[in-house]
Amino acid sequence: MTVLDRRRFLQLGIAATFAARAGAAARLRVVVAGAGIIGASAAWHLAQAGADVTVIDRAGPATRASRGSFAWINATWSKQPRAYHALNQAGLARWRSLQPELKLPVRWGGSLEGIADATLEVALAGRVAEQAAWGEATRIVAGAELAALEPNVDFTGLNKVVFSGHDGATDPVAATWAFLDAATARGARVTYPCELTGVAIAGGRLRAVQTDRGDIAADRLVLATGAAADASLRFADWEVPQRDSPGVTVITGPMPRLVQRVLWMPGVHLHQRDDGRIVLGEEAGPPATEAHALRLQEQPSEFPAQEIALQHAERMRLAALRFVPGLTAARFEDARICWRPMPLDGYPVLGASPARPDVYLAVMHSGVTLAPIVGQCIAQEIVAGAPVESLDAFRPHRAS
Ligand SMILES: Cc1cc2nc3c(=O)[nH]c(=O)nc-3n(C[C@H](O)[C@H](O)[C@H](O)COP(=O)(O)OP(=O)(O)OC[C@H]3O[C@@H](n4cnc5c(N)ncnc54)[C@H](O)[C@@H]3O)c2cc1C
Repeated sequence: MTVLDRRRFLQLGIAATFAARAGAAARLRVVVAGAGIIGASAAWHLAQAGADVTVIDRAGPATRASRGSFAWINATWSKQPRAYHALNQAGLARWRSLQPELKLPVRWGGSLEGIADATLEVALAGRVAEQAAWGEATRIVAGAELAALEPNVDFTGLNKVVFSGHDGATDPVAATWAFLDAATARGARVTYPCELTGVAIAGGRLRAVQTDRGDIAADRLVLATGAAADASLRFADWEVPQRDSPGVTVITGPMPRLVQRVLWMPGVHLHQRDDGRIVLGEEAGPPATEAHALRLQEQPSEFPAQEIALQHAERMRLAALRFVPGLTAARFEDARICWRPMPLDGYPVLGASPARPDVYLAVMHSGVTLAPIVGQCIAQEIVAGAPVESLDAFRPHRAS
């Protein structure tokens, strides 16, 4: 696997090159299907690069994974191997560089990961050293320093706590809208509800995309349709199998500041936004009961009843109370169930469909971390026609 060159992603002069090239010929007409955070970032970068952009979504902006995401922006050691880690690092760097211009709602400050399993000690030392070698501000913290980092958190019972100083977290719905608003200001159109239903191909080229609201003339289609597993085969003529990966996220009402950073604790994770709302998540997903298995078959995006949403919220609050006793005072505003876009091998699928070169696939987990850099790469590949070599490990042909 090629080692990514971070600098390649950070060339700020790229946008000017796009615009110059795009202006020389008729503007490339690009339809972006899916107005989650990936489609939104792609739309802004494409519009910025000079393309004539239309975004469509069958439900509405940030209504699927990008609504329910925990939205931790990170490049921690779970991001392996090096090429994938470097892509995530480039994601963080691009969040930071775009934040002032687009007013992206990110709270920085790092993350704390609590390790309960003492048998991980040797492996942990190796992982921390590897992170440092890869340029991350990662180290083990304890005692007074830990207490100063998080005065309201009880770390009793944890074997070790690892601090990763570069991480942050966002509000994924607000961030999606920030990209879309900026794209609209650059002339992009955002239409919803509007479902992609087909593609019109003639002479081997894309001529139009078909929707339930009529055809849209197009030169390129970006499929940022997330966990909609049938989309790649239907529209790109290329199957990207995905595995089911549901997750529950709970959001409290605004609270006085309890937590400074992202906390990734055994069984539960949380962070507190600048608006005071605390976001709770869990790695395991809903408990594996027969009732859940039946309900999940339909891939619902809402709980069947408010009381069931509240039961999940209480379950996750109980898990979190051990670490953050102040959560007893929390009132819940929302509990969301969402499906992660999850290619079988867990890595992004990025690039033109091998079967339909005018249809570009953009399906991935960790899409909140990756959205800004992926949007930039998509624009570079589609508008400038310049392949981003560092995406080679993530091309669609390897995912089928
Ligand atoms: C519980 C959970 C926790 C997560 N935590 C993190 C995290 O901490 N950090 C991180 O980086 N990532 C995290 N992720 C992953 C991240 O949220 C996703 O990778 C990201 O939101 C994907 O964005 P997307 O735009 O590709 O997909 P989505 O947000 O799902 O958007 C896809 C859009 O496509 C639309 N669509 C589908 N089919 C069609 C069609 N035929 N026509 C028109 N529109 C269509 C849908 O309506 C939808 O709006 C998490 C995800 C979940 C579910």
